Amino acid sequence: MDHKTLEHLQHLDAAHHLHPFNDNAALAAKGTRILTRGEGCYVWDAEGHKLLDAFAGLWCVNIGYGRAELGDAAATQMRTLAYYNSFFQCTTEPTIRLAAEIAELTPGDLNHAFFTNSGSEANDTILRLVRHFWAVQDQPRKNIFIGRHDGYHGTTMAGASLGGMKGMHKQGGLPIPDIHHIDPPYPFGDAGDMDPEEYGLLAARRLEDKILELGPERVAAFIGEPIMGAIGVYIPPRSYWPEIERICRKYDVLLVADEVICGFGRTGEWFGSQYFGFQPDVMTIAKGITSGYIPLGAAIFNDRVAGVLAAQGGELAHGCTYSGHPVCAAVALENLRILRDERVVEHARVDIAPYLATRWAELGEHRLVGEARIAGLMGALELVPDKRRRGEYFPGRGKVGALCRDIALRHGLILRATYDAMLLSPPLVITRLQVDELFDKAWKALDECAQALGK
Ligand SMILES: *Cc1c(COP(=O)(O)O)cnc(C)c1O
Repeated sequence: MDHKTLEHLQHLDAAHHLHPFNDNAALAAKGTRILTRGEGCYVWDAEGHKLLDAFAGLWCVNIGYGRAELGDAAATQMRTLAYYNSFFQCTTEPTIRLAAEIAELTPGDLNHAFFTNSGSEANDTILRLVRHFWAVQDQPRKNIFIGRHDGYHGTTMAGASLGGMKGMHKQGGLPIPDIHHIDPPYPFGDAGDMDPEEYGLLAARRLEDKILELGPERVAAFIGEPIMGAIGVYIPPRSYWPEIERICRKYDVLLVADEVICGFGRTGEWFGSQYFGFQPDVMTIAKGITSGYIPLGAAIFNDRVAGVLAAQGGELAHGCTYSGHPVCAAVALENLRILRDERVVEHARVDIAPYLATRWAELGEHRLVGEARIAGLMGALELVPDKRRRGEYFPGRGKVGALCRDIALRHGLILRATYDAMLLSPPLVITRLQVDELFDKAWKALDECAQALGK
């Protein structure tokens, strides 16, 4: 793109486009980065820079960029039947096939899909339908959801309320009523010298304490990301999720796994709940279901919940115009075909995850890094002022992370920063050679960042 066009677009963008999760005044002054093309693990910006996208867009481009088959699937479906709804006793073939395919892929008896356009809407859906599930069984007071501080479940009223991001709660009067939060499992910041597995049990028992405080007859469900993404890839100890599951069963509290990031191979398993060995009653998915090529989300219910909703729920007063959109379903089916037929998830688990873990641990040796944690293909580097002193952070948390992120970008590497943690989530199709490139660029960025801080 020539310089004049780029400047013109940036001007139009600043004048007319409000960006999500941005300080729009600061962005307008700086000028938006415009991306123009993608291929495999790389994207190109309007100035012609080739960037290794170690964040897969926004945790979502699992099969990598530029797969024409997905475009073909969309075009074919658009020509055949561009749209029909799933209201009024109707639906379309790709929608049915996708629901069946998801039932096949998801663990246990998670057999019933309710389609939405996004992860946020999927979480809105579970809030309403799970409350409805208890209400039609004469337990209307069993309506409280427990989530976690610093959890992320999207941006709608229910999604942001179920999440525990304080900055989000401040805007728009959240959380909405009857949503409570417990502290998340965050070993690096919270466990001190405790044995990790013991810490995992302790962190899980915060849920039991909260259920007993509220009364089990009031608690409808617990919701959590198997690995907390947005806050900084918090990976719980192995003991955490089985204990959460035990507690949920004991008090008949539904267990909801928000698999929007972890689903579809991110951990090297198809779902994060499989990675940790627990069985959710309800699951929400989005992002990787289409590798980000087209918007689609879903809430998946097990036989028990769907059975009650069908037998006693009456007409479900819930749904989107585009619930089960045939074009989105066709693209998702093609994406799942590629993930399965090309053994993308298996490749990620068997070949890439162990190699990435080794190289990530090497980055952990850097003087700026307090911890390098990773599970499958999602990881974080905690940048700290003094490697030997755990639990100490840079003043004005977030500045150093942003600095490191910007330096990495100048070296042609996209990482995300949350506070002072550098987050990793590459396409699942990344090769060993590209992992080496990632390592070299990240190491250089850490070095330059340390120098800039006088370390
Ligand atoms: C991205 C995300 C969501 C929200 O999905 P949208 O499609 O952005 O609405 C929900 N939960 C988790 C864990 C996410 O990462």
